[in-house]
Parts: sequence; structure tokens; C-alpha cells
Amino acid sequence: MLQKLCPRVQAESVLELDLVELQKAGIRGIIFDLDNTLVEWKQDNLAPEVVDLITKFKEAGFKMCILSNALEHRVETVANLLAIPYVSRAAKPRKFPFKKALEYMGTEPEETAVVGDQLFTDIFGGNRMELYTIWTPPLSTTEFISTKAVRRLERLVIKRFRRKGILQ
Ligand SMILES: [Mg+2]
Repeated sequence: MLQKLCPRVQAESVLELDLVELQKAGIRGIIFDLDNTLVEWKQDNLAPEVVDLITKFKEAGFKMCILSNALEHRVETVANLLAIPYVSRAAKPRKFPFKKALEYMGTEPEETAVVGDQLFTDIFGGNRMELYTIWTPPLSTTEFISTKAVRRLERLVIKRFRRKGILQ
């Protein structure tokens, strides 16, 4: 179980994603979590740097998709701004929404990365699907009360990974 919570790699934020490194790893599709990964929780305003990043990846031939447990209208707004497909109310870490995202992008699990801030949804779900999992620490500390409870557990897991030198 613990192993399934462990991301393949860690990045400070989506802005630190290394396009060339991902290409070298054979990645050509990226699934993005929305809240606290692409935008701060419940915010729809994308940072211009994030828009630029998505454009850069698009120009390099990457397929992308937003996969979020949030409601459709929020996910749709951001996805439309970025002109990429989305899956909302995704019920991560369940497998079917990830499968839907792969279908939208037309990529196989081994050539797909997932980027997200939560070990118990984004990383666990991605690892179950055998995707290339990238953990980015949450952009803000504001979130659902239920998420906050999970976060306490998550912090323990992160501490343990850090002690083992798996995460920085
Ligand atoms: Mg999130």
C-alpha cells in the first residue's frame, strides 16, 4: 500500500516540469489535477506562467487532460481556457476516470504522466494505473474539510518517504 502512495518523481510545482526529461522518459501525455496543482483551491484564474507552460507542452506535441474530482463547471472553465479535454467529478483514485483521460489523449499508460498534489488520489490512482506519477506540493493550504483530514495522514506518509530519502 505505502509503495502505491509513492510518486515516481517530485517537482516543486507544475512550472518546474522538465519537458525534455519527460520526453526522454517516453512520456507524451500528461494528466493534470486541477485544485492546488494547476490553480489554487476553488480559483479559476490561471497564472499566465501556467498557460505558457501548457502552450509549450502542446507545441512539443504533448497530449494533455485535466482530471479533477471537482464539479464540471469549474473544471470546464479552466480546461476551455487551456483548450484541453477534461474529466470532472472524477472520483480519483478510482481507475475509470484515468482510463477516460487516456482515451481522450489517445495515449497508453506507459507513455502517460499524472501530476497532482494529493498522494491518496492523484498519486495512488496514477500508480494503480501504472502511470508516471509526479507529485507537486499543494499550491495553497485552503481546501475541503474532508481533504484536510486526509492531509494529516498524508503528512505522515510524506515524512516517512523523506526519512527514507525517497522524497526531498
Ligand atoms: Mg488537488
